[in-house]
Amino acid sequence: MYIDSHCHINFPELAARMPAILGKMEENKVTHALCVSCDLPTFPDILQIAEQYPHIYASVGVHPDYEDTPEPTVDDLIRLANSPRIVAIGETGLDYYRLEGDLEWQRERFRTHIRASRATGKPLIIHTRAASEDTIRIMREEGAGTDAGGAAGVMHCFTESLEVARAAMEMGFYISFSGIVTFKSARDLQAVAREVPLEYMLIETDSPYLAPVPFRGKMNEPGLVRHVAEYIATLKNVPLEQVAQQTTENFFRLFKIAH
Ligand SMILES: [Zn+2]
Ligand SMILES: [Zn+2]
Repeated sequence: MYIDSHCHINFPELAARMPAILGKMEENKVTHALCVSCDLPTFPDILQIAEQYPHIYASVGVHPDYEDTPEPTVDDLIRLANSPRIVAIGETGLDYYRLEGDLEWQRERFRTHIRASRATGKPLIIHTRAASEDTIRIMREEGAGTDAGGAAGVMHCFTESLEVARAAMEMGFYISFSGIVTFKSARDLQAVAREVPLEYMLIETDSPYLAPVPFRGKMNEPGLVRHVAEYIATLKNVPLEQVAQQTTENFFRLFKIAH
């Protein structure tokens, strides 16, 4: 069995095809998925999906790329996370690739999420792009890691260096690989994935984006996460079953889900 640790099945292009999405998951033995929040206005849809489907969990948070959107307070996040169906805070983090100018608001928003994670004990889902130095620095300053009494979390859709992966793992964070690792051009990332121990690894689709090879360029969906697992098994030269089992166990452990 496989788990998609990060998807956006509430986005209209996927939500409109929910029966087919669930069918494809079943067909590929993808038993669970985590539907990740990007802003507060769409959070009710996400909560509703997680309440309707027992094998779909959800998070609450505001994405660093969402500029013109209601800003969450720590109390907002704590209040909205108060459901057994909400297993994480995020996605949050820093993205200096998509946006330019003074991004102090992004760093403040990131700190807000880390504080909500510490207060609720729910792990963080961190998005970092072209901003790894500030991301790691703020994680340390705010005590995001288990070593600092935080709830740790996952570096999602990881595309950074092994050094950054190690800094995150030292704080108790998991590293999640998406379909990007299957791309021919992703040599550096493949080298990182070879070094990240399975004990610290999650897999994800980040659907509807980033479909893995051989579906690159098509619309992605949780059922396709199996292809990420297959690629990692080949890359690390371990049985597929081992990748499936370890990433599944990691998911349940990190998000404190009884199974
Ligand atoms: Zn992201
Ligand atoms: Zn995402």
